[in-house]
Amino acid sequence: MDKETIKQARVVKHTGSHYLVSDLPEWKLTKCIVRGKLRLTDSRTTNPIAVGDMVDYELQSDGTGIITKIYPRHNYIIRKSANLSKESHIIAANIDMAYLIVTLICPKTPLPFIDRFLVTCEAYSVPVKIILNKCDLYEEIKESVESFKDLYKSAGYTTIEVSCTTGQNIEILKEECKGKITLFAGISGVGKSTLINTLDSSLNLKTREISEYHLQGKHTTTFYEILPLRSGGFVIDSPGIKGFGLIEMKPEELSHYFPEMLRVLDNCRFAPCTHTHEPDCAVKKAVDEGIIAPERYISYLGMLEEGSKYR
Ligand code: GDP
Ligand code: ZN
Repeated sequence: MDKETIKQARVVKHTGSHYLVSDLPEWKLTKCIVRGKLRLTDSRTTNPIAVGDMVDYELQSDGTGIITKIYPRHNYIIRKSANLSKESHIIAANIDMAYLIVTLICPKTPLPFIDRFLVTCEAYSVPVKIILNKCDLYEEIKESVESFKDLYKSAGYTTIEVSCTTGQNIEILKEECKGKITLFAGISGVGKSTLINTLDSSLNLKTREISEYHLQGKHTTTFYEILPLRSGGFVIDSPGIKGFGLIEMKPEELSHYFPEMLRVLDNCRFAPCTHTHEPDCAVKKAVDEGIIAPERYISYLGMLEEGSKYR
């Protein structure tokens, strides 16, 4: 095989039968397929190649490609395919920043969902920030907004307050996205599609009224894709992320992915410590003293409990 025909590129989309790749930041798509052998590299994930993966492909005479190699990932976001299943699904790989879009009303994002997503990011080395969307609606609940921001600030996270309706902080977000591949995640209805459309109206992602959500089929297959922003950078829209599962985590490891717990856990008398029943536990002490938010500790306990189901 002629060396010239081996090319390196980024996987930008996966449909059922093929992958689209492009040598970012250039946006020139090549349709690729995978050799059967490559599919077996990791049997525990349902998709051995994920959006964001760097690959080599052999360019064919008809202009399509055959993927021959996947480069090691520097990070990725993963979720369990189904509850209690041992299989997992890599949502996206090699992400520069994950933005978790949350809303306090219409709909209210559950705190355990937020914490689970943040833990996943910590565990897989994905930098993450919170975007609080629909700030135009929070006039009446200013106190909830402040306590939300305080809760995550004390945990070590940045929250950016935005509104697609008023344009609040949209320019700042555009600047942050330049030169990066960013993932936009969040439960249905928080405004992911609207936000991406606000960053670049030419993308024209489909948005839906909240009232239409029940019309969506439960088992609609969703494919993740990288989209170019006119103002610079690339975004990955991740439609309807539900039920993030934690993958293969030892109970004593979980607290390492809560930044505020990681800061104090060296002072626990026992190592490893699960910060539940152990005496002289620095994490429990920090919760008692109000240094660690009880909401976060409750999320932690919930995740520990849930994790035990998988073992
Ligand atoms: P997705 O499921 O996360 O992609 O959510 P969509 O982008 O489809 O938005 C769901 C609903 O929220 C739509 O009716 C949007 O018009 C609305 N929405 C999105 N952003 C905002 C915002 O900043 N303020 C208000 N008031 N509504 C918003
Ligand atoms: Zn402890």
